[in-house]
Amino acid sequence: MIVMTPGASADEIGAVRTRLEKTGVHVVVMPGELTTAIGAIGDPQGVAELGLEGLPGVDRVVPISRPYKLASSELSHHEPSSFDVAGRRVGGGETFCLIAGPCTVESSEQTLGVAEAVKAAGASMLRGGAFKPRTSPFAFKGLGVDALKILAEAREATGLPVVTELLDSQHADAIHEHADVIQIGARNMQNYALLEVAGKLGMPVLLKRGLSSSLDELLMAADYILKEGTEAVILCERGIRTFETATRFTLDLGAIPWLKLHTHLPVVVDPSHAAGDRRLVEPMSRAAAAVGADGIIVEVHEDPEAALCDGPQALYASQFADYARDVGAHASLLGKRLA
Ligand code: PEP
Ligand code: MN
Repeated sequence: MIVMTPGASADEIGAVRTRLEKTGVHVVVMPGELTTAIGAIGDPQGVAELGLEGLPGVDRVVPISRPYKLASSELSHHEPSSFDVAGRRVGGGETFCLIAGPCTVESSEQTLGVAEAVKAAGASMLRGGAFKPRTSPFAFKGLGVDALKILAEAREATGLPVVTELLDSQHADAIHEHADVIQIGARNMQNYALLEVAGKLGMPVLLKRGLSSSLDELLMAADYILKEGTEAVILCERGIRTFETATRFTLDLGAIPWLKLHTHLPVVVDPSHAAGDRRLVEPMSRAAAAVGADGIIVEVHEDPEAALCDGPQALYASQFADYARDVGAHASLLGKRLA
């Protein structure tokens, strides 16, 4: 939509119209009481490239179409998309996936212990960090490729597909070899080169919302992955920065129904990093299930006090079965069963 200034002359309006028509868009001139608006229906990119803002008589150009394309629910005619990860359905409105495990792989015993516990309680996937994005460069950064091997062992033992973070494109092949779902961490949501690398691997990608990213930005980041040909992208709301510091981040629950309206992609919630405190994790998980999330990704440890990373927010493995039952009950209110 091109909005003309109040004083725009008929010649100026005509000049804009001619320019638009040359790009092949359909033009509708709408004279108003004070200003004239000109609607351009067609390729928004072609119109943007005309640089109409600089023409005499033009006040502003207002894009009406959405900035994200492949992630948009318009693309799927408002049908939710779904796909399988090692036989577990993600998205589609009938299943709820529980992705659980430690923040970080610390040892084979620790990872296998948690994996068995969450599997027995009904988790559908195992999470665990091998390469950790730490705020301080002096904090524990994960066991790297050794951790990937431990995760693969845990998958072998439990049958649970593995979700782990791709932090750097140089680890892409190793992750492709050992994992089932690539996680893109919040701090890398706008690392566009990394998003393209992840999209090229042909594996499902779990894309976390950036700490200070809008939902439009999240969906445009998803477009970077989708344009490489991967159809399996899972969005993750994990809390955003606000003025509130009582919780580690602020879980944006409104994001879930908003995303359900605007994208066909499945949406999961990470209550652990949003809360920073295990006592809040269960109520926030119930809320996430109740507002329509397709799943949860949650941190669990057998001995959180001894965890090398994010212990205070980790659920006790011994309490995970109760947790899974409660969250599953809330998901079933919306007609979803645990995947
Ligand atoms: C994680 O899942 O362990 C993690 C680091 O999450 P985020 O990128 O959301 O901070
Ligand atoms: Mn963590």
